[in-house]
Amino acid sequence: MTAGLMSGKRGLVMGVANDHSIAWGIARQLAGAGAELAFSYQPPSMDKRVRPLAQSVGSDFVIPCDVGLEPDVDDPASIDSMFAAIARRWGSLDFVVHAIAFSDRAELKGNYADTTRANFKKTMVISCFSFTEIARRAAELMPEGGALITLTYGGSTRVMPNYNVMGVAKAALEASVRYLAVDFGDRAIRVNAISAGPVRTLAGSGISDARIMFNYQKENSPLGRSVGLDEIGNTAVYLLSDLSSAVTGEVHFVDSGYNIVSMPRLAGLKTLDTPGEENGNGAVDNGGAGGGENGVTELKRREAAE
Ligand code: NAD
Repeated sequence: MTAGLMSGKRGLVMGVANDHSIAWGIARQLAGAGAELAFSYQPPSMDKRVRPLAQSVGSDFVIPCDVGLEPDVDDPASIDSMFAAIARRWGSLDFVVHAIAFSDRAELKGNYADTTRANFKKTMVISCFSFTEIARRAAELMPEGGALITLTYGGSTRVMPNYNVMGVAKAALEASVRYLAVDFGDRAIRVNAISAGPVRTLAGSGISDARIMFNYQKENSPLGRSVGLDEIGNTAVYLLSDLSSAVTGEVHFVDSGYNIVSMPRLAGLKTLDTPGEENGNGAVDNGGAGGGENGVTELKRREAAE
């Protein structure tokens, strides 16, 4: 479908942890479209999984990079060293995929209000600011223009249970996309985000009750299904190729349409249609049960039965 679209283009893919990673789904589609790829991995351990995956798409260019480190050209795991390695080997770059996020899993449950200062900073630096740091360095290697994408989630604009500080980081990340799009627009460098529906990955499983939310979004999206890694990958090919040459600063949803829905299908809410008492305002009192809460209770029941 996309064969040849990325021929002659070289790009860096950041965020492959294993073959379930969204970054891997994107890399596979980019390679299939003819792109030449470099991969970064989070040191010290992720290279064991990343190298064979890179090899399977014809790449031996695998670089360590911990985006949580302070800039330091002398540290081989720093962002600076990674871009120095790319400059040495390729001289220039056409695109970057940033699919990196981190937050203390102890704070991906309960209330956002309980977020600690230390985890707020760490989450923001790794999940948000790293994209800005990477974009600035990548742009220096894009004299003929280029494209950058990052990965976000709908918890940035609407509250999702347990997503907490990560939602705040994703809101800042999406704002960064718009500012970077303007900063680099006159150099023909485009900056966009993909807002993906839930996918079962390492990072995704760090969010408490992730499975319940996965099932809820699947059942209540217009398409009534989850999204596949290849589908996110194909959207990435669109955003990184010349097909989207006039698109920048966008947050593009790949979520089976879940983001447009305000209320789940009524069929799924029949439990709310119980005889209630009219309150003084003519509204029906359902005993204080919110629709979302009831839907989740129902999903929890089904989870337990599985
Ligand atoms: P994943 O666990 O496969 O990937 C997360 C990656 O972040 C890993 O490769 C990990 O090594 C990397 N990382 C974390 N801290 C790092 C650091 N300090 N330095 C370098 N790399 C670091 O999970 P994923 O779900 O594929 O996540 C990729 C992106 O997609 C994330 O930004 C995530 O928020 C986003 N996203 C995920 C979902 C989902 O449901 N899984 C939905 C929407 C968006």
